[in-house]
Amino acid sequence: MSASSPAPNSHSFVLHRALNGVTSVAARGEGVHIIMEDGRKFLDAGMAPSSCAIGHCHPKVVEAVRRQIGELHFVHGARFSSRPMETLAERLIATAPPSFARVYFSLSGSDAVEAALKLARQYFVETGEPQRTRFIGRKSDYHGATVGALSMGSNANRQRVSAGMLLDVPLLSPSHPYRYQRADETPEQYGRRVADELETEIKRLGPETVIAFIAETVNGSTLGAAPPAPGYFRRIREICDKYGVLLILDEVLCGMGYTGTMYACEQEGVVPDLLTIGKGLGAGHLPVSGVLVNERIVQALMAGSGGFAHGQTYEGYATGCAAALAVQEVVAENNLIAAVAKKGDRLNRLLHQRFDGHPYVGDIRGRGLLRAVEFVEDVKTKQPFPATLRLWHRIREGAAQRGLLCFGGGGDIAGAGDHIIMSPSFIVTDDVLDTMVGILGDAVDDTFKNLPVTVKKTDGKAAR
Ligand code: PMP
Repeated sequence: MSASSPAPNSHSFVLHRALNGVTSVAARGEGVHIIMEDGRKFLDAGMAPSSCAIGHCHPKVVEAVRRQIGELHFVHGARFSSRPMETLAERLIATAPPSFARVYFSLSGSDAVEAALKLARQYFVETGEPQRTRFIGRKSDYHGATVGALSMGSNANRQRVSAGMLLDVPLLSPSHPYRYQRADETPEQYGRRVADELETEIKRLGPETVIAFIAETVNGSTLGAAPPAPGYFRRIREICDKYGVLLILDEVLCGMGYTGTMYACEQEGVVPDLLTIGKGLGAGHLPVSGVLVNERIVQALMAGSGGFAHGQTYEGYATGCAAALAVQEVVAENNLIAAVAKKGDRLNRLLHQRFDGHPYVGDIRGRGLLRAVEFVEDVKTKQPFPATLRLWHRIREGAAQRGLLCFGGGGDIAGAGDHIIMSPSFIVTDDVLDTMVGILGDAVDDTFKNLPVTVKKTDGKAAR
């Protein structure tokens, strides 16, 4: 197809996610930009959240991939290891909390979560507690598209069709102070209250039947860059330890530096038994993800059957590991995690300058370069806009028309709710951050101006 070819749309032979929604073809990625076949150029502020940590087509990563694919692109993981995989694992373990001993490498976030679930189950099979068969998850977490991972959380849109075929997993309340903290609670009391749900649920199921509790450390796409209440995860860790239940933290979206520390759980003062990573690991260059595995679990596997009862053809894909290694070298050599904290503060400031006092902005939140703006119809009651408006979609598309790619989400509040997530790359400059927030602001203003219903503002309160 030439640069002037019409968009594929109904001419496409691809089963796109949105059969008529994907209408243009991207041709090139360059740093913070995506350039289309028709010449349009977009600034990428995280069209997929947390997936472009060092920008598009970073030359060092491109070179590493080129070299690796010409040398040894793939070996089967059941037979051989590869140098990039060994070096990447060594590097990740060196920078992880000391209790982690090994890394299992997979391809996608969903794969990593499935592997973590199976590792957790195998741990108890190997240690003589095969009756532990249950997982506990949380509402509003998203852990992936595969059946196991999808069962561990709730995401209305993504579960709409699959609901009838998912695993039976009890889901606890999210830890989301903006929406669910009561007026008579401090953030700490709220955190404690929702964390204590875990103890109640473990007792209800029978502690001897529970394998693990799984949660996103910072909720990513479903609630929109929503950090937990203070002390929440410390209490969760205590409860897990009390009942011998494993803690799996899913940092596919919030890990690998996006929150300003390599792992988001560092800021919570907890270390899980299994930690999943994805997106930021290969930073979009090649599919690669992983699970950091606690020493105790590794020992159990060694003393038991001697291996992980799992396997995928492309696990530990050598070229993917080479790409991830190059990404992590770029991050370390340029001190980019420290830069995330600083640039994240700027992004937060800019969002507040642009949206504080906006009659329909309920919350501005996040950490590091993972930030979100939540839109509500009434900022006092936090009443969301009607789902039928698809406000997040309008804002996201309005931003795209102005040349900015960001992620929009919604539907978590009884089908309604709207947020926009910004997760630009760690190499973003101050000027570009200013431009990104400026474009988003214009898109938001324009969206509200052009809503197809009468939206009247009275004292910052919306009436329809
Ligand atoms: N876990 C979390 C927290 C995620 O946000 C996602 C993807 N958005 C996944 C797992 C699944 O990752 P993937 O889409 O790469 O399978």
